[in-house]
Amino acid sequence: MFVAFSLVLFQSADPRAQPPRHLALVGGMLLDGYETPPIHHAAVLIEGNKIVQVGPAAEVKIPADATVIDTSGRTMMPGMMEMHAHLAILGHGDYGRWFPWLAEHKGQFPPERILEISAKQLLMSGITAAIDLGGPMRESLSVRDRIAHGDIPGPRMEMSGPAIAHRAGPPGPGASLSLLAGTGITSPDEAAQATEDHIKQGVDVIKCQVPLSYEEYKAIVDAAHKHGVKVHAHLYSESELADAFHAGVDVLQHVGSAGVPLYSPALVKEIVDSGRPVVPTAAHRVFVWPATLDFPERLQNPQLKKDFPPEIYAEVQDSLKDYRWLRYFNTTDRQMFFGDAGMKQWITSGAVVGMGTDSGTPMNFHIDALWREAKAFVDHGMSPQLVISALTRINSRIYGKPNDLGTIEPGKLADVIVVDGNPLFDIVALSHVETVVKDGVVWKKDGVFVDAVKSRRTSQDEN
Ligand SMILES: [Zn+2]
Repeated sequence: MFVAFSLVLFQSADPRAQPPRHLALVGGMLLDGYETPPIHHAAVLIEGNKIVQVGPAAEVKIPADATVIDTSGRTMMPGMMEMHAHLAILGHGDYGRWFPWLAEHKGQFPPERILEISAKQLLMSGITAAIDLGGPMRESLSVRDRIAHGDIPGPRMEMSGPAIAHRAGPPGPGASLSLLAGTGITSPDEAAQATEDHIKQGVDVIKCQVPLSYEEYKAIVDAAHKHGVKVHAHLYSESELADAFHAGVDVLQHVGSAGVPLYSPALVKEIVDSGRPVVPTAAHRVFVWPATLDFPERLQNPQLKKDFPPEIYAEVQDSLKDYRWLRYFNTTDRQMFFGDAGMKQWITSGAVVGMGTDSGTPMNFHIDALWREAKAFVDHGMSPQLVISALTRINSRIYGKPNDLGTIEPGKLADVIVVDGNPLFDIVALSHVETVVKDGVVWKKDGVFVDAVKSRRTSQDEN
């Protein structure tokens, strides 16, 4: 608190204030988040936490005091944004086992620690902003705020807390932590009240989850919009989609991945015409499942072992040892049956399609969920450039910060990543994130985590 206070004074009043720090990323190809040709051998100049100059390196004047990161031979692009994450889960195979395990081990691993692990994984994967749609209230808000203060690594976060839903959640140990926990509403009035309560507690977005009636959606939307808060709905079927859309829900989550027949052209047209976004979360069952059958070794990605404490790694591995029979994948055959057509319906519809993954769900790790989603879209006909735009510029609209995030241009907040290779040629280059800059701060460089928390503390001690 004291630090933040003195910083404000320093910036606003002190005539001895030092000029803001400069950081320059120089040499690589630049994708700016628009569907325009890349700038080759480009440079991005950052002052403090803002982008101030962008262009061919020969034309960008780099101040002598700037810290320069050589990006030659690589690709620079806006930080990716994840529109559907769950920080309370890490890819463990079974919620019914994970949350009781957490409750049992909370002395050793306070639940907040799990959210911290997820947040760091997302940031190291090049994700500089994310929306968590379902997690424990206190821990979610605390982790969001600690990230925002620079105390722990993670993306900028919008948090929903527990879903507004009929279900109250599973009974038993760990229930309050479970992302299956809901508010247990039974009427439109209660839905409105739960929405108000969530907003009062400090959530950024509202997540609501089927089954809900049209009147309940309407009550939630009206209550949320009074406070300028967006509503995301988790839904599948035609009638659920129609009810949520007509009630004014802002973001339609999971459509196109749900194992249901195609939506009627009339409803799709209405959604397209409205400009309201859909986030299909296409990959989490339909593509993660065959990818694992093809290459079960992905479950032992060495990064997971590095990121998880040994006990958590062992528990996650054990939960996945019979992954073919996990209950979570019971409906996957049906989802795969409709998967390709469902996805193509949205890709070819002209709808605003955002990118989110349900990351953290079984076998859907925070370290690879988003590039797998991107690959699924490219494999189904979306151009790599449009996919990159969706991950960045379009997602910044869903996130509600289109003027600050999502593209690389002067005046925007400095969320920039560097990937090895050319994602326009092979979108899987997005899995090779070498450098991550968030809010002008370097959190990863040359593939290695940079402890910006520690270096900030050290420089404060020296001052
Ligand atoms: Zn979800």
